[in-house]
Amino acid sequence: MFSSKQISASLWADTAPSRQSTPAVSGGVETDVAVIGGGFTGLSTALHLARAGHQVTLLEGVEVGFGGSGRNNGQVIPTMTAAEPDAIEARFGEVGERFVGLVRDSASYLFETARQEGIDCEAEQTGWFQPAHRESRLRLSRARVDAWSKRGAPARLLDARESAELLGSDRWFGGMYNPTGGHINPLALVRGLAAACEARGVAIHENSPVEAVERRDGRWHLRTPSGEVVARAVMLASNAYTGFMASKLAPKVARSVVPVLSWQMATRPLTDEQRKAVVPGRQAVSDTHGDLQFFRYDKRNRLVTGGALALGHNGPDRLRALVGRRLEAAFPVLGRPTFDFVWNGYIGMTEDRFPFISQLGPDFWCWAGCNGRGVSLSISLGREFAQAISGQPVSQLALPMSDPKPIPLHGLVKTFAPPAMLQLYRWRDGRDGPQQRQARG
Ligand SMILES: Cc1cc2nc3c(=O)[nH]c(=O)nc-3n(C[C@H](O)[C@H](O)[C@H](O)COP(=O)(O)OP(=O)(O)OC[C@H]3O[C@@H](n4cnc5c(N)ncnc54)[C@H](O)[C@@H]3O)c2cc1C
Repeated sequence: MFSSKQISASLWADTAPSRQSTPAVSGGVETDVAVIGGGFTGLSTALHLARAGHQVTLLEGVEVGFGGSGRNNGQVIPTMTAAEPDAIEARFGEVGERFVGLVRDSASYLFETARQEGIDCEAEQTGWFQPAHRESRLRLSRARVDAWSKRGAPARLLDARESAELLGSDRWFGGMYNPTGGHINPLALVRGLAAACEARGVAIHENSPVEAVERRDGRWHLRTPSGEVVARAVMLASNAYTGFMASKLAPKVARSVVPVLSWQMATRPLTDEQRKAVVPGRQAVSDTHGDLQFFRYDKRNRLVTGGALALGHNGPDRLRALVGRRLEAAFPVLGRPTFDFVWNGYIGMTEDRFPFISQLGPDFWCWAGCNGRGVSLSISLGREFAQAISGQPVSQLALPMSDPKPIPLHGLVKTFAPPAMLQLYRWRDGRDGPQQRQARG
């Protein structure tokens, strides 16, 4: 279904500090906490547990950062994609309020964690901007700024002039700006977190796909092709990649998420003149299109961007044309950009666009369904899961619990829903008249 080639073709694989891979788990291992998945969630949970003195063994199916954490756009965003603070609090009450606080502070917490652990991940806390692609979408920006300001976030509405100054383009109409956001090199961060874990004694085993988890004699038994880990507590942190390596691992979790392929691309480094004209303040940008337009710089002044395709055939070439046209239209100074890297990864979507955070058994925790916003969220959730695993009552944490909801006919849904949804988003994006004319792919 997927190959490790995809990650090796990425900008991040080309630029992140390398990491010595660790041996697969072998024989029988006893541990206090077993973590499944070496992405931000698994490593953040392991790091916080290790800081609190727990013995942790982390099992990663392929390599650290193989999932979304090593492939994403690296935008550090202190909001959810679709779930708004009012709705979260209405649904989960006090826990919901704590969770909204966690999301509000999550970007700063990520930058702080990287600083504390001395991780060089090209972190730039330059702010995050969500420009409105139509004038009518400014209503949403205004509502979001109100909702987040009410809860103490330093969110601000930029008008059309301020937006044009920030972007270096007048194709958007203003929008929500939050100075706590920014961007990172995600593979450098995830590898740095792995090193921080190892320095605190976490045993990380790569090439160790967990095939099954069983409860016997009051302990969890995790089976891999080369060994078995026995643990008091388990953190399942395989997110959108849950069903990919072992169909029996947690079928209810896997069937509750629709993995949607998201394409990422990086241009050739821009010239100084182009860089000063395009997003001169180096903010991370993702707009209000359903068929999202997003971009940020990396350290070498490449624009890191991407897009979605309804059909995968000939994907990289079609994306180069589609995203190239979009960028040229928004920033004529770029001309038709050349892309040096194109890669992809799976985002976990849920039916209600809200993640599920669940307990699958005694001391067996999981979450999945970031809906495309999980970089800073997963680092903060790792802290909360570590506290739950340490015995803190969940009612005192920022963990809004809900059960996974398996999607009927999941096999068909995951094949046909993503292209259908993309067409719907594109139709909606242009519904009030295409004020920002959009290239199609
Ligand atoms: C292309 C793309 C772009 C994105 N851009 C952004 C962005 O700019 N900003 C943002 O906020 N969010 C973004 N996201 C979302 C974000 O990357 C994810 O929410 C986040 O990385 C999830 O981290 P995680 O640790 O929970 O899961 P993952 O990083 O996916 O880690 C799961 C790990 O589990 C492992 N695994 C799976 N099955 C097993 C098994 N049986 N045994 C052992 N290990 C297993 C996998 O190999 C993988 O390494 C993007 C996602 C993608 C795919």
